[in-house]
Amino acid sequence: MKDLTTKIFNTDFPRKDPYGSIHFPVYDNVAFEFENSEELARTFAGKTDRHVYSRITNPTVAHLENRIKNLTGSLNVIATSSGMAAIANTVLALVQNGDNIVCSKYIFGNTYSLLNKTIKKFGVETRFVDPCDVDEISEKTDDKTRIIFMETITNPQMVVCDVEKISEIAGNSGAVFVMDTTATPPPVFEALEYGVDIEIISSTKYISGGATSVGGLIIDYGTFDWSQNPCLENDYRKFGPYTFTAYMKNEVHRNLGTCLSPHNAYLQNLGLETMQLRIEKSCSNAVKIAKSLLDMKRVKKVNYPGLYDGNSKDMTKKYFNGNPGSIITFELESRETCFGFMDNLNLIKKSTNIHDNRTLIIHPASTIFTEYPAKERENLGVSDSLIRLSVGIESFDDLTNDIKQALDKEEVVRNVK
Ligand SMILES: *Cc1c(COP(=O)(O)O)cnc(C)c1O
Repeated sequence: MKDLTTKIFNTDFPRKDPYGSIHFPVYDNVAFEFENSEELARTFAGKTDRHVYSRITNPTVAHLENRIKNLTGSLNVIATSSGMAAIANTVLALVQNGDNIVCSKYIFGNTYSLLNKTIKKFGVETRFVDPCDVDEISEKTDDKTRIIFMETITNPQMVVCDVEKISEIAGNSGAVFVMDTTATPPPVFEALEYGVDIEIISSTKYISGGATSVGGLIIDYGTFDWSQNPCLENDYRKFGPYTFTAYMKNEVHRNLGTCLSPHNAYLQNLGLETMQLRIEKSCSNAVKIAKSLLDMKRVKKVNYPGLYDGNSKDMTKKYFNGNPGSIITFELESRETCFGFMDNLNLIKKSTNIHDNRTLIIHPASTIFTEYPAKERENLGVSDSLIRLSVGIESFDDLTNDIKQALDKEEVVRNVK
């Protein structure tokens, strides 16, 4: 894994802070004052780097964007009010009535709902595909496909797709390759190296520093030729590689009002500083816990990429340096056994989030996927006996002891018999 921390610390402030503050301050204000009308007019015309109104841009938010730009080597970054806002903005910028999207069928639940309900209403069809079936992805992509949308590691199926091959299909068809890399943010996965055009991260997760605040990021690598997209082709002559950014800033992101709050940007700037340490600790804990679960009596199956042969081992090595994040899913005997086990835990907390500093556990079928009929849950690989664990930065021994004692307790043993 690359160490990105130095880059994060060494992203300069655009102006020297008058008090020499080491942290970038929180500019928790709405508007900015100008000395003269000419400068105000020039700023509205996009001819200065000044801020006018915090829904459009804000210094604290811009500092977060600059740091992400610096550490990813991307062309531009836009911070949004949530991960879902990052996805919704990106999709709304790139599609119009009659277009289609090719998307993994194993996708974050709210993304599925956005594409399958909210966007569908506007005449945009989403074709859901098996992310591991490159032929199917290729067959379903046509000249009206504007986006191919994937996640690096799906949750809770824990499936890895072949990023490079999908990037090739997108490149050949004029579709933008958009990847939600929330499960494997930089430094785990280097999106630019594998041909991702737009990377999306829910900064609510790792970046926020352990569940401090909600936020999202849209990272444009500058690899897509925007003249190929009908929504953007007119702007292309004026903005060239910056077309997507300009369209977001001058229209979609501005009009939807999905700005990140300066206070959340401040928390996420703080979180970013310790991200590398937290990722390293939680991933190394997760690798050890996944291995130990394989040997535990009542555990029927463990899903963690690269854990055994035939389980995306090569791709895990290639794309994530053998370090596939901190989420593990596993199966026990039944829903009752899962509930008994979870209620026996002393340390691990029952909660829906991921990438907190604490280890969190949830039963997806009865919670996140409860709105889906049983048949649909089955198609999504979310069985009644599946548990999701988001591994934190506690001591490995404490975590594994908690899991062991909870599996061994009477309720779980009795339920299995
Ligand atoms: C959490 C999450 C999102 C949504 O992010 P929010 O910040 O909650 O809006 C999107 N994709 C993935 C993979 C996530 O885990």
